[in-house]
Amino acid sequence: MSHPLFDISGRTALVTGSSRGIGHALARGLAEAGCTVVLNGRDATRLTKAAAELPGEAVHTAAFDVTDGPSVAAGITDVEERVGPIDILVNNAGMQLRAPLLEFKDTDWHRIIDTNLTSAFLVGREAARRMTERGHGKIVNICSLQSEVVRPGIAPYAATKGALKMLTKGMCADWGPQGVQVNGLGPGYIETELTQPLVDDPEFSAWVRRRTPAGRWGRTEDLVGGLLFLASPAADFVSGQILYVDGGMTSVL
Ligand code: NDP
Repeated sequence: MSHPLFDISGRTALVTGSSRGIGHALARGLAEAGCTVVLNGRDATRLTKAAAELPGEAVHTAAFDVTDGPSVAAGITDVEERVGPIDILVNNAGMQLRAPLLEFKDTDWHRIIDTNLTSAFLVGREAARRMTERGHGKIVNICSLQSEVVRPGIAPYAATKGALKMLTKGMCADWGPQGVQVNGLGPGYIETELTQPLVDDPEFSAWVRRRTPAGRWGRTEDLVGGLLFLASPAADFVSGQILYVDGGMTSVL
């Protein structure tokens, strides 16, 4: 039997960007833990398919663009009316654009900042309005190994994830007094559509395995345990922290 501190059954969780990849795996983990889960993404058809792949009856979808303020406000209102009060928010939606910094276009800069950083502010603020009123809530921002370290060609991505780490701490400072805990989960190199070009590059793939003490790429399921902890009463006095789930990569040279 698991310890009651880890019991999150019956909670309602919204996971942004959960039609595939890490978000979908995290939503599956929350559903398996007994949560009512709301999947989000921009494509309603893809979301319906993704929802059908999850266990249980308590899976809902909410299609909205997390970079658009009015859509986010309407989306959160709709989820709370249709599904119920959001107890757990996972700000996961994100993107990667790889290019040398000298060639990086203004439009791409704004797009990646909007998708990876502004989204967490917009969705976090709307969800936290309700959570702080109710006096409880858990927010987990999906950060990255690149919240700490970077390599050539991904400076804008690292800038968004470094900023997301500090936004996490700021949310912790602002909303902690009203009973809302805000933490970050920092995945290392995980096999998903976002990293497929890197997985397919034998040299890069070998470098990841060499650099990672665990000796392999991460799988989306590797991230579930950390999320369930941060979303549970076991973490009621844990806030403003980033939990790196990276097979040890951030710890070694
Ligand atoms: P994917 O590209 O596989 O999935 C991204 C998800 O976000 C999709 O469901 C997509 O759906 C959704 N999405 C993108 N833009 C928006 C938007 N504007 N509004 C709503 N939904 C959106 O990414 P991953 O699963 O690999 O990554 C998920 C998160 O994990 C990201 O924040 C990423 O930075 C982070 N991460 C990933 C790592 C990895 O190795 N893969 C490592 C470290 C962090 P749709 O396009 O239909 O809207």
